[in-house]
Amino acid sequence: MQTIAVIGGGITGVTTAYALLRRGYEVTLYESHRYAAMETSYANGGQLSASNAEVWNSLPTLLKGLRWIFTQEAPLLVNPKPSWHKLSWMAAFVAALPKHDDNTCETVRLALQAREHLFTWAREEKINFDLKKEGILHVYRSREEYQQAARIQRLLTEAGLERHPVTAEDIHRLEPTLHGHFHAGYYTPGDATGDIHKFTKGLATACERRGGKIHYQTRVDQLLADEKQAWVTSHSPSGTHTQSYDRVVICAGTASRELGAQVDDKLNIYPVKGYSITLDLKDKASREAAPNVSLLDEAHKLVSSRLGASRLRVAGTAEFNGYNRDIRDDRIRPLIRWVEDFFPGVSTESVVPWTGLRPMTPDMMPLVKRGKYPSVYYNTGHGHLGWTLAAATAEMLADSLR
Ligand SMILES: Cc1cc2nc3c(=O)[nH]c(=O)nc-3n(C[C@H](O)[C@H](O)[C@H](O)COP(=O)(O)OP(=O)(O)OC[C@H]3O[C@@H](n4cnc5c(N)ncnc54)[C@H](O)[C@@H]3O)c2cc1C
Repeated sequence: MQTIAVIGGGITGVTTAYALLRRGYEVTLYESHRYAAMETSYANGGQLSASNAEVWNSLPTLLKGLRWIFTQEAPLLVNPKPSWHKLSWMAAFVAALPKHDDNTCETVRLALQAREHLFTWAREEKINFDLKKEGILHVYRSREEYQQAARIQRLLTEAGLERHPVTAEDIHRLEPTLHGHFHAGYYTPGDATGDIHKFTKGLATACERRGGKIHYQTRVDQLLADEKQAWVTSHSPSGTHTQSYDRVVICAGTASRELGAQVDDKLNIYPVKGYSITLDLKDKASREAAPNVSLLDEAHKLVSSRLGASRLRVAGTAEFNGYNRDIRDDRIRPLIRWVEDFFPGVSTESVVPWTGLRPMTPDMMPLVKRGKYPSVYYNTGHGHLGWTLAAATAEMLADSLR
């Protein structure tokens, strides 16, 4: 049986390793952290959201983005300092505008497939990850916003998604804890939420149970490849090692670009920074005042997910600022204020802030492909939807391996 190295122990790497192990491959996974899912797959928005499948390459989104650049506390922030990486990514983003509809429909199809795989794996491997199958409610403040969304609604439903229009009254009936005025919304009953970190750690343990090797605290420094095999040089507390494999699969999130360059592949992946807060719902009043249905607030581009009885996660914002991972107070405050405005009964006394870098391709589509050398493969670039899509792309990758 072929030997495969998987680089990266986030959601994409661990699902890839798992899909390969199920097919009988001999798999070794390299992860530079001490545990799985410590980078972007740590504290994301939690949404398994086919309903958020619209790719961002559209004229209305582009115009809104340009307006936001000049608005304080807007969900988008762009560091004006130019870099070739950022500019070439943005040029490719604009070039992908004509692919908006096709890519949106393809994302819906992937998300629907991913749901099934993920739920099955979690059940079979007995992974508790605070899964909540209560749907996702997308809310709009103004008639204008809602009318713009009608075209996307047609696209999503054509692609096979069950998503219903709801009135302002329906919104408050579906989520009675939500305060504020909304024009209308859409509800997707099949969408779900869960803790990506817990799931990925649980699936990594399942990989080990199935005979996969995981080298934690092991950073891959160098990759070499030819027509027949690939060589992985890594360092860990026990020293530096080089090992050859029949195939290597790069699933290293925002580091995939740099690893790909070592084996002559150009990957256009930009780190788009986002933030989340996790509220500890310590008291009964907070638990009762917090939402159960997951929300997507279009005006603020924020999502919320209830994780178990005692945690509420709120996430959002997109920042183009290179590989900077600082947690900025001025980006966290709007998330806290959103909770205070829309869920005033929830205590914001205990809030854990977090930031992560979305590995984003310019057309928002994950890269599931072979590299220049037949021994190198990629399953990466899942951007803002890695939790939603990873189980499907892992299956695609595992099926495509020869
Ligand atoms: C604020 C925010 C909210 C989000 N909300 C959602 C959501 O609600 N729903 C959704 O579907 N998606 C969401 N996402 C996106 C999702 O979290 C990401 O797409 C996903 O986590 C990316 O997973 P990954 O495996 O590609 O990358 P990562 O999780 O970053 O994993 C890559 C791993 O590779 C390892 N690595 C890198 N280089 C090396 C090396 N040289 N050697 C060894 N190991 C290496 C890293 O340590 C890391 O663990 C959100 C993202 C953010 C930032």
